[in-house]
Amino acid sequence: MTEAAYDTDNIFAKILRGEIPSHRVYEDDAVIAFMDVMPQGPGHTLVVPKAPSRNLLDADPSIFGHLLSAVQKVALAVKKAFGADGVTVMQFNEPASGQTVYHLHVHVIPRFDGIPLKPHTGEMEKPEILVGNAEKIRTALKN
Ligand code: AMP
Repeated sequence: MTEAAYDTDNIFAKILRGEIPSHRVYEDDAVIAFMDVMPQGPGHTLVVPKAPSRNLLDADPSIFGHLLSAVQKVALAVKKAFGADGVTVMQFNEPASGQTVYHLHVHVIPRFDGIPLKPHTGEMEKPEILVGNAEKIRTALKN
């Protein structure tokens, strides 16, 4: 089956253009990272390349090295910020896999022994909680 084209009005494209707000924790020339508004656990962060692609399947492979370095940076920061026991890194491609936003992104979720993930795209988190969690991650990224 042929996959749909990249939609320049997807919600992460709008966040990248600054048209809608996000709780941003990291940015460089090629990547941004911000809090997932429906976290599957405290500190759930999304790492998003600036280059447009629908998902992993149509992305230019030249972006992957830097993207994965940024994922590692954010994973280390969330682990430290939340005193986590581990970190889950996930990425979905097309609806059958669970993808709901069609701009490539990587989920980075702190994990704690014996505590399961909450459902994917479950409940909206309170903005004040996201503000506090973003600040913890920014602080961990500085140290
Ligand atoms: P996926 O299903 O892999 O495409 O994941 C999309 C993720 O984006 C979900 O975990 C949503 O909770 C999250 N999400 C949707 N809208 C926003 C938004 N405006 N800001 C931050 N995260 C969002």
